[in-house]
This record gives sequence, C-alpha cells and structure tokens, in this order.
Amino acid sequence: MRQAGAASAAVRTAAAAAVRPGVTTAQIDAVVRKTIASLGAEPAFLGVNGFPGAACVSVNDEVIHGVPGKRVIKEGDLVKIDVGARIGGYNGDTAITVPAGNISEDAARLIAVTKQSFYEGIKFARKGNRLTDISAAIQEYVESQGFSVVRDYTGHGIGRELWEDPAVPNYGRPGHGTKLMPGMVLAIEPMVNVGDWHVKVMPDRQTVKTADGKLSAHYEHTILITEGEPEILTAPETVI
Ligand code: MG
Repeated sequence: MRQAGAASAAVRTAAAAAVRPGVTTAQIDAVVRKTIASLGAEPAFLGVNGFPGAACVSVNDEVIHGVPGKRVIKEGDLVKIDVGARIGGYNGDTAITVPAGNISEDAARLIAVTKQSFYEGIKFARKGNRLTDISAAIQEYVESQGFSVVRDYTGHGIGRELWEDPAVPNYGRPGHGTKLMPGMVLAIEPMVNVGDWHVKVMPDRQTVKTADGKLSAHYEHTILITEGEPEILTAPETVI
C-alpha cells in the first residue's frame, strides 16, 4: 500500500505540473499514463465502470469523474485531477485541484478550504475513533466557510480493490460507523461546492457536475490508521 501510495503521489505531482492554459484534458491523461508506466504501475481507474481514462480530469463545475478528451484548459480554470496507481495488486488514490494561470479570489479560497477540510478530517483518523468523526469534522469546517459538501459521492476504504468498505462520507454526525483500527486504509476525499451540494451525472454517464453550475473543488489522500498519528500514503514527500 505504501508503494501504491507513493506511485499515486508521483503521478498526481506530474499531472498537476502539466496543467496550464492551452493543454487538453487528454494531454493531462497522457502524462498520467506515461508516469504510471514509468513507475512500473498500472492505472487503477482505467476501465472501472467503463471509465476510458487513467485520470479523472474535471474542470470548474465538474466535480469528479471528468473524462479526458479534447477540452482545452483556459486561463482561470479550476482543474481537478484524480489519479490512482496499482502496484503488486494494491491501489493508491489521490486528487488535487490545480489552478490554470490566474484564478479568482473566490476560486482560490475554495481550493484552500477544500484542502484544509481534508486536514480537519484527518485529525480524527485515529485508533478508537468512529468513522463519522472524520465526516463531521470535514462538514463542519466546510460549512463554517460558507461552502457545501457533496453528499452523493464519498471517500472509501481502499486496498486490493480501489473501492472497499467502508464508505467515508464528507458529512454526518460524529460517533457513528466503523471503529477505526490500526491497519485500516481509507481514501478521504472532500468534494466541496461553492453553491448547493446537489450534483448531476452528465449524459456521458461518467462526469459529475454541480447542479447549480457553480464551482467545485476536490482534494484526496490515501491514509493509514496507525497506533498514533495517521500516515498519509500519498503525501508529496513519499518515495517509492
Ligand atoms: Mg477516491
């Protein structure tokens, strides 16, 4: 899991560096495929529920599961990159929101709040706590900043399968769900909307957009519950 996490982090870093006005989302996917191959890994997302890419590239009001294609990134876009690498039968999963060129102040605040909400959640990712202690911390922080958390999609357990139990909602009351135990690995991934939390699936049956057309951001790491501090397996500094 540490190797898969480190590979996923390296792929996310390479993909984020490729974001700039003028590139297509397919070009970002190509960077992801090349980086995954160079690490001796396999793309964890390719073919899942018919997904045709190695990366989900979701722009502006697209929340998650954006299909890479001909879309050209423009100045001011918010580009969400979600990637997963599999090594030795184990999966990593991580996502980041990258600004293309100069973005609005509101968009920059959305990115910062989304990232910080992950760190508010992981404070509770400790032995003996309950799963929704994480969920509640994310929701409380996001809503305190005037944004909303997506309800229809959640984080998840991860291991030999990309998506395993338990689901890790980004909302809820604390004190419920699975008791957290050392050795559990979770993908914690707040999806945060500027407007209302409702989303809709587009006719491509993959891309999820905000229902109100307002901006959304995404941030995700694969983390390990330990005897003490949680370990971020997809942290930028992880080395394969
Ligand atoms: Mg995930």
